Amino acid sequence: MESAEVARRFLKFFEERGHTVVPSASLIAEDPTLLLVNAGMVPFKPYFLGQRTPPSPRMTSAQKCVRTPDIEEVGKTTRHATFFQMLGNFSIGDYFKEQAIPFAWDLLTRSEADGGFGFPEERLWATVYTDDDEAQEIWHKKVGVPLERIQRRGMADNYWSMGVPGPCGPCSEIYYDRGPEYGREGGPVADEDRYLEVWNLVFMQFERGAGTGKDDFPILGELPSKNIDTGMGLERMAAILQGVDNIYETDTLWKVLDRAADLTGTKYGRDHRSDVSLRVIADHVRSGMMMVADGIRPGNEGRGYVLRRILRRSIRNLRLLGGEEAGLMHELTSVAIKAMGEQYTDLIRTAANIHTVIDAEEESFLQTLRTGTAIFDAAVEETKRSGKPSLAGDQAFKLHDTYGFPIDLTLEMASEQGLQVDEDGFRRLMKEQRDRAKKDAQDKKTGNLDVSALDQLLGQAGGAVDFIGYNNVIGEG
Ligand code: ATP
Ligand code: MG
Ligand code: MG
Ligand code: MG
Repeated sequence: MESAEVARRFLKFFEERGHTVVPSASLIAEDPTLLLVNAGMVPFKPYFLGQRTPPSPRMTSAQKCVRTPDIEEVGKTTRHATFFQMLGNFSIGDYFKEQAIPFAWDLLTRSEADGGFGFPEERLWATVYTDDDEAQEIWHKKVGVPLERIQRRGMADNYWSMGVPGPCGPCSEIYYDRGPEYGREGGPVADEDRYLEVWNLVFMQFERGAGTGKDDFPILGELPSKNIDTGMGLERMAAILQGVDNIYETDTLWKVLDRAADLTGTKYGRDHRSDVSLRVIADHVRSGMMMVADGIRPGNEGRGYVLRRILRRSIRNLRLLGGEEAGLMHELTSVAIKAMGEQYTDLIRTAANIHTVIDAEEESFLQTLRTGTAIFDAAVEETKRSGKPSLAGDQAFKLHDTYGFPIDLTLEMASEQGLQVDEDGFRRLMKEQRDRAKKDAQDKKTGNLDVSALDQLLGQAGGAVDFIGYNNVIGEG
């Protein structure tokens, strides 16, 4: 089953059950507390909070998501991408647990011929929150899942809140057992690689107070109207339905991966490290392309920086595989646009714009790398020769200050060489430089050029210490 069909099927199932289909919102979150939309419920937040009236109490969507915190997992686990699509059904004060759980079960186990995903019942496991006896009852008595395939989990995994006073509630997650060749027995609590989490059902049921932390807050009482928010990972479903080992081998991502393998002359499946690189490239090219399509531009702050980091990581991984020439990103972006174009037809229409942005970023980064890599290599050699475990702070500083290497690039490249970086030393030098600049500004009595304006000129405002000076020296900025 193609990825696009997974989405169609999900939306159709819920549409037939009274849900209004809502198109995906842009990746740029309306919500000022978020850089990027990271879950299907984000665009619906105002409805859940009672700030806006929903078009319908039952809605369903296939939402584009980016999760930056998962970036380090990409390519290493079988199930994390930075860009992915979350399929969801939502009830705003309409149905609750007793209906949401059977809906989920029905869609997963119903035969493919009958509009479902055709999963064998015995492959499916569920988790419920520690004290959510109600959910367990529904899974067991109403749906018929044997008790030994229902596990209880605590706050960290099975409780949802927005991190602030407001709605919260227990979750119930659904896992697919991929079989003994993927890991240990014992359910999702024992092994989340073998038991792949495909769907999370959130029961928005209570109101929480402030408390002291993410997992520690008082429950003030029941919400006047209870809500349902669910999220199913489209890529993970596609991996299962397409019988492949990981999400990077599913139809859309595979096209990019395969082309990257071609372009760099790498054989996928031979060597762990180059496989990780190929998966990172596939994910990041698609992710970067989708971000650009939604109007994000590479930059040194906020989502612009996320995009820059993602694009530059794909370029670096291409180089690790020997793909050093310009134009590789163009080629891979074309493939990603075509692969996603069936679901997102606008991509085809705006392809030229997307290319312009990504090509420019490739060019500027290749320039940075050309200038700095030899210096970096020399620093690594010197460090190794002297037997030290980390690259000195002043070397990281010089790479940054003179060659435009952002610290995270130095960190990543050092780690590939089995080295750490003296980050404290680096930060001390950064601070000294900043203080010097401020003092100079005062000494010269630059009059109308105040200190914060100078900071801005140096690209050092807003505490963006990690990625300042990126373009200062190279001058493409
Ligand atoms: P995991 O524990 O595997 O990191 P999660 O519990 O963080 O997943 P949720 O926040 O519950 O994920 O998101 C709902 C669904 O979205 C998940 O069940 C999964 O199918 C999918 N999903 C979450 N994160 C990713 C990701 N980084 N890449 C692909 N799919 C994801
Ligand atoms: Mg996660
Ligand atoms: Mg989880
Ligand atoms: Mg989850």
